[in-house]
Amino acid sequence: MTLNLRKLILLILIGSIFLMANVVVVANWLAEKRVPELAQTVRENYLTGTAITIIVALLILLVSPKKAGGNKAVGLVRRCPVCDHVLLSRGSYCSECGSKI
Ligand SMILES: [Zn+2]
Repeated sequence: MTLNLRKLILLILIGSIFLMANVVVVANWLAEKRVPELAQTVRENYLTGTAITIIVALLILLVSPKKAGGNKAVGLVRRCPVCDHVLLSRGSYCSECGSKI
């Protein structure tokens, strides 16, 4: 978790608290702009059960353990960028293939 990500989470949290505090005003404003009608039309025409199932399946397939971010993606486990071998020692060379990390 980087510093920028923490700042973004904090800003989203503050914004959501302000939104929840003024939920009636926000709801009235949305109704005034006819957003609920638009959303209902979109849901009825494009978000059928089949479409939602396909979207969820694609999301599950997209998130794989070896996703972008390379060898420092998953917490404590370090992996060799060349052969993807799990690095147990703290050295700067891979014990499997000998490449520099
Ligand atoms: Zn290696």
